[in-house]
Amino acid sequence: MLMTLEEIKEKYRLKSDWHTHTIYSRVGPYLHGKGRIIDNAKAAVRKGLELVAITDHGPTDFYGLSMKNIPKMREDIAKALKALPGLRIKLGVEADIVDTPNGLDVPPGDFNKFDFVNAGYHYVPNCHMIANWLSFRMPCPAFICEKLRKQNTERIVRALKSNDIYILTHPGDKAYIDEHAVAKACEETGTLVEINARHCHPDRDDLRIYEQYDVKFAISSDAHRPKHVGRYAESMLLALDAGIDPARIVNIEEIQKPQEE
Ligand SMILES: [Zn+2]
Ligand SMILES: [Zn+2]
Repeated sequence: MLMTLEEIKEKYRLKSDWHTHTIYSRVGPYLHGKGRIIDNAKAAVRKGLELVAITDHGPTDFYGLSMKNIPKMREDIAKALKALPGLRIKLGVEADIVDTPNGLDVPPGDFNKFDFVNAGYHYVPNCHMIANWLSFRMPCPAFICEKLRKQNTERIVRALKSNDIYILTHPGDKAYIDEHAVAKACEETGTLVEINARHCHPDRDDLRIYEQYDVKFAISSDAHRPKHVGRYAESMLLALDAGIDPARIVNIEEIQKPQEE
């Protein structure tokens, strides 16, 4: 019998959210992420998180951050830390998996500009963008799906093995992949598999595959609005439904109830 979302919230809490977007994910005046860094930070405090990470999209993305804004982002984080003592804030990036020498749109020389690097598949140039987009939206002949699955999987595995990636974001969303090969690469590289509160993948069946490998998981909100920072209950329910031991989810903690007399 599955728990209700209320029961989940009474039993488990999210300690840290390692994947949120801000107004630094934008294209010109169009804001892809709707909140400022301080807004995500305040939302994290309201949700009782100990840590929130700012992970705007990689520079290749249509809404990608501009590397020249990194000092400004660091400044915003310093101000938020001052205003909200007790909260930890990390600066990361959600790099795009693309066809570059290291398989990401963040080259190895830029890794030290961030506290950590997440990576995921998106509809970006240099990444079978149109074919993947179409294959997810209309009937896809099996031989084309299989070809895309092979190419997408090779790219993800290469990115995982060429870089120190903290979390592989929403694997299987936006592109067909071979979950077994991706899970094996996460196992070999110690990369966390994301259970994403915003996207449809990984779904329960995908998670049942990842569960069979020696990998750990992170639940992330992937918030694009401050009010979504720290969303986790639906993802926790999905993880339990897939048979994942909560001890394998690195940012979840079981709430200790005071002992009754
Ligand atoms: Zn993403
Ligand atoms: Zn994201």
